[in-house]
Amino acid sequence: MNSMYFTEEHNAFRQSFQDFLQKEVVPHIDKWEETGTIERFIWKKFGEMGYFGLNSPEEYGGLQLDFFYTVIFLEELQKINSGGFAAAMWAHAYLAMSHVEKEGSERIKTAYLTPSIHGEKIGCLCITEPFGGSDVAGMRTTAVKKGDTYVINGSKTFITNGVYSDYLVVAAKTDTTSRDKGMSIFIIDRDTLGVSATKLNKLGWKASDTAEIAFDNVVIPADNLMGEEGKGFSYIMSRFALERLVMGINAHARAEYALEYALQYMSERQAFGKTLNKFQALRHKVADLASEVEMCKEFNYSIAKRLNEGQYIVKEASMSKLLSTKIADTVINECLQLLGGYGYMEDYPMARLLRDSRLGPIGGGTSEILREIIAKIVIDKKEYKQSK
Ligand SMILES: Cc1cc2nc3c(=O)[nH]c(=O)nc-3n(C[C@H](O)[C@H](O)[C@H](O)COP(=O)(O)OP(=O)(O)OC[C@H]3O[C@@H](n4cnc5c(N)ncnc54)[C@H](O)[C@@H]3O)c2cc1C
Repeated sequence: MNSMYFTEEHNAFRQSFQDFLQKEVVPHIDKWEETGTIERFIWKKFGEMGYFGLNSPEEYGGLQLDFFYTVIFLEELQKINSGGFAAAMWAHAYLAMSHVEKEGSERIKTAYLTPSIHGEKIGCLCITEPFGGSDVAGMRTTAVKKGDTYVINGSKTFITNGVYSDYLVVAAKTDTTSRDKGMSIFIIDRDTLGVSATKLNKLGWKASDTAEIAFDNVVIPADNLMGEEGKGFSYIMSRFALERLVMGINAHARAEYALEYALQYMSERQAFGKTLNKFQALRHKVADLASEVEMCKEFNYSIAKRLNEGQYIVKEASMSKLLSTKIADTVINECLQLLGGYGYMEDYPMARLLRDSRLGPIGGGTSEILREIIAKIVIDKKEYKQSK
């Protein structure tokens, strides 16, 4: 491992997390991929091991470690080849929980962050709506203040952990006359009257549950507002930098996994009396793929370091997700080809990898939207500032 970023302690953590995944998760993956349901016991085990609170403050039960522990967590989750299982875990920890940690009041942190770290409560983040996901400021879900409550109406879609989570972090309009400045963030218990979820069927990420969620006159206490009213859009944009880097790291890790698998296969499979890794056409293909993965990985590590130092990395995280997800799709597609017909079979990892990888350029900001952001920064010199 690159010693510029990873210490002996990091390496030991990687080894123990790999062992944990092999023992506790891998034996169940095919079942969870089939049922689209991740059993509760594994959430609890992740919690007991501290995996959901790697960077969270100790006072709430977290381990308060540096961001490279998260890099390892994400990489190793990709390497057991269930994008859906990985998504369920990281969406809880780095989408839902990160809003609770940054914007939640003391009451909310005690009630939701601590049990989330312990794996006792699962969260989801609800931003995308059926009418549109890219245009976040155009959302239609409303939150109307009535006395010491808010009443929520509207719907969300494509929500990871949307069916089985215990609480929902929800973006809604508190001022419908304004776009970005009229948005706020709330925390809502799953069992609140008027909340309903419908599970969606999808191409990949089979183990994770993805849902459409309806809010029908959902009444919540006013202090379930997270942060300040009207600041939701800036909170969402600030957390997007982390989400996009997470997705960039996921992408380089799954590309690396595909390549490692293909290399092993090529060293064993024979054609025309020699192993595949002796054919120059294939060797040059591998050289190209390995170079792309390495460039991507090193870029992502350098950004992770800057994030760890407290820098706001919106441009770089957008670039990371844009390029890493594209490279991952290419690498996995080419690696599937290297396996010939076996690449197309479900008994080999490439078919699932290819399906799961396809979500990379879509979820958490499409590649087109990322290009818009990068163009605004590079061409128009727009500056994005982090919310507190
Ligand atoms: C499996 C899965 C899990 C997800 N998990 C979550 C989750 O947990 N929480 C959550 O809130 N969301 C989640 N999403 C939603 C995801 O973030 C959105 O799908 C994504 O942001 C795109 O929104 P959309 O699907 O509405 O596409 P649209 O916004 O309708 O876009 C359609 C197409 O038009 C393009 N487009 C749109 N606007 C522009 C523009 N200005 N310029 C150029 N092209 C443009 C897009 O790039 C895309 O290709 C998930 C999605 C999936 C598929």
